[in-house]
Amino acid sequence: MQTIGIIGIGLAGLRAAAELRARGFTGTIVGWNAEGVPPYDRPPLSKELFGDFHHLLADDGLGDLDELAVDVCGEARTITRDGTWFVDGTPVDVLIIASGARPVQSIAGASTLYTLQDARALRASITPGSTVHVVGAGWIGMEVASVASAIGASVNVWEASQHFLDRTFHGTVDDIWGTWCEEAGVNVHLNQPYPGGNCDVLVQATGARPTVDFLPVGARTARGALQATSEGCVLDEEGTEIPSLYAAGDCADLGGLPGGHWTQALSDAGRLAACIMGESEPRPAPPEVFSTQFGHEITLIGEVPQADTGVREGLSIRWESGAFLGIDAPRETSRARKALRKQMAAAQTTAAIHAS
Ligand SMILES: Cc1cc2nc3c(=O)[nH]c(=O)nc-3n(C[C@H](O)[C@H](O)[C@H](O)COP(=O)(O)OP(=O)(O)OC[C@H]3O[C@@H](n4cnc5c(N)ncnc54)[C@H](O)[C@@H]3O)c2cc1C
Repeated sequence: MQTIGIIGIGLAGLRAAAELRARGFTGTIVGWNAEGVPPYDRPPLSKELFGDFHHLLADDGLGDLDELAVDVCGEARTITRDGTWFVDGTPVDVLIIASGARPVQSIAGASTLYTLQDARALRASITPGSTVHVVGAGWIGMEVASVASAIGASVNVWEASQHFLDRTFHGTVDDIWGTWCEEAGVNVHLNQPYPGGNCDVLVQATGARPTVDFLPVGARTARGALQATSEGCVLDEEGTEIPSLYAAGDCADLGGLPGGHWTQALSDAGRLAACIMGESEPRPAPPEVFSTQFGHEITLIGEVPQADTGVREGLSIRWESGAFLGIDAPRETSRARKALRKQMAAAQTTAAIHAS
């Protein structure tokens, strides 16, 4: 194995390069980076839209392309295979897809928030006193509503479903977010698709879709992501591993765990690097989402199943499945993370015993 190609040098792609080097890979790493800027962190784009939102991943100790000796090219367009993989004609022995996602943009004239460029444009257009309409009461929509209201914009949120953060919490947190919005003067219209109308700034925050259209192979999951094993090996339509093709981060769902989260991108990169280097798979990490809204630090550990029962602990919620929503509760959150990690490791051991 001489050359490893990585398409997409965001968090997952950068971490894959760092994990490979840390495990002793001394060959060539070629990275394709469509954005043409050094990799940066996306969560601050919404949470710190009116503060310091440009955080380089290198400054956070997550990897430096020069130190990792990654040869960087621009956008990858054509992938072919003829014994080995070719990216726009460049041969690579192993190919890693880490191409992330793109925001859904279906409303004419609406802005989205995914890139550094988007954040710069949005920051310039939202001002104190401006009227901002946010479509979508998911994580990013609510973060934008929170920061825009904090600088004195007049904010309306339109949400087609009946609940705040519906896809994550299935209607179990409406009172919490409802109170925060009321206190911040954010007008929320649940169960009301965006009706159109005049405003200064219109932001569409209705989710993102994996960017995998350039890849001619690989089965897709329901959300359009590449289907992969827990080690990151991409599967074909028959469920067979495609040789030397791996995926990580928002563009992939590894071992049935949906990607789309920061910590997932990190753990995916570690798992596929271990697999490529023939090492044992690191312990699985539970999915984790963090957010800052209306002055509160929010962490969700694990996934909340549809019909799960949750018990309130102050503002936080603990579900029977082990999922935990910590609001301004760092200690409890840390305990829940450890407990869920143990639960997942035990399940992995049991599965291994059954398989052998
Ligand atoms: C505003 C915002 C706030 C967020 N907040 C949170 C949060 O609070 N908590 C959380 O858990 N997650 C959050 N996320 C999600 C988190 O940032 C992502 O899960 C993470 O960035 C995924 O990393 P990735 O490397 O898989 O994808 P990306 O960061 O999308 O990187 C993929 C890169 O691949 C590039 N690319 C795509 N196609 C090609 C190609 N053909 N050739 C070359 N390059 C290509 C893209 O341009 C991009 O630079 C947030 C995301 C956004 C946008």
